[in-house]
Amino acid sequence: MSSRKIAILPGDGIGPEIVAEAVKVLECLQQDFGFGVELETAAVGGAGFEQSGKPLPDATLDFCRDADAILLGAVGGPQYDSLERDLRPERGLLSLRAELDLFSNLRPAMLYPQLASASSLKDEIVAGLDIMIVRELTGGIYFGQPRGIRELENGERQGFNTLVYAEHEIERIARSAFDIAMLRNKKLCSVDKANVLEVSELWREVMMNVSVDYPDVELSHMYVDNASMQLVRAPKQFDVLVTTNMFGDILSDTAAMLTGSIGMLPSASLDIGGKGMYEPIHGSAPDIAGKSIANPLAMIMSIGMMLRYSLEEAEIASQIDLAVGNVLNQGFRTADIADGGNTVSTVEMGDAVIAALKALAN
Ligand code: NAD
Repeated sequence: MSSRKIAILPGDGIGPEIVAEAVKVLECLQQDFGFGVELETAAVGGAGFEQSGKPLPDATLDFCRDADAILLGAVGGPQYDSLERDLRPERGLLSLRAELDLFSNLRPAMLYPQLASASSLKDEIVAGLDIMIVRELTGGIYFGQPRGIRELENGERQGFNTLVYAEHEIERIARSAFDIAMLRNKKLCSVDKANVLEVSELWREVMMNVSVDYPDVELSHMYVDNASMQLVRAPKQFDVLVTTNMFGDILSDTAAMLTGSIGMLPSASLDIGGKGMYEPIHGSAPDIAGKSIANPLAMIMSIGMMLRYSLEEAEIASQIDLAVGNVLNQGFRTADIADGGNTVSTVEMGDAVIAALKALAN
């Protein structure tokens, strides 16, 4: 099998700790599942700034362009908060998404039955939850120009951002979401604010136009305020949700918490050809960095998404999902998902996944 080139970007905080476990998993896939892989590590975020004065060093960007897929830990940390905005770690991540045109962000929210009690919602509301939020990632108000803080004639300061979406941007995220819905239960809910925003009116119109090409998918529309309510009232009504950059940012964190731990959720950001960057949805968790207590499972499950969505290795991806399920069945828990029982370290959780994978390979 030819070897796949994967860019490994550990980043900051707990990023390097959880990425180390992901690398162990990739090495195991190579040894035991015949998955040819070539790994190269590069700096991004605060680590990129320390190395080259930029949160996205040129060499890192070149390397990512050249790779078949990118695996990222997390970026950020309080020591960088006083840097000017363009030098902050998070800007490195935004630039990487924009430079590689990773416009389609897939954020699954699924609840392993073994962890039902970790959710703050009642078991019957969340047990078996499996939804996918497709968030537009390179447009909308996070990127729209003009933006800034200006001084008004009366001397008062005014902050301003611009919410814009061109038709082609809406159409490509729509197609991405319909394609995902076709692989799942064929139900797509588009979330907007069409009762107030003109941008949303256009969004809704384009969604309906694209739906003509996907007659098997049932398309519905929901206002974002209602969607946020429905996500905590009856989340299992959803299969795939598609929405704008900012609405998706907020709704996907709500969906994440339905599952109990932010440490259990992977994500993918794809370009039009399916090349992607894979990362946990959580941040660099400076409060627990260096303590070896971070949960590496979201990072490890990001490898599963990478195999499925960019590398056409769905079978090996399902082995990862199985291994994670088996590890949870065996009672392994990091502190964030522990229910009062014994906890294991980041490294011990990684080792448990490797042991489960090796058992599946034999
Ligand atoms: P966070 O996701 O880093 O942490 C929120 C809480 O969840 C913390 O209590 C943390 O300890 C816990 N947590 C997160 N991941 C965990 C894991 N794997 N295992 C166990 N517990 C985990 O969010 P935050 O505290 O708001 O942000 C910290 C930094 O991360 C900031 O600099 C922020 O800008 C950055 N950030 C980066 C990304 C990214 O790299 N994609 C995303 C969000 C935030």
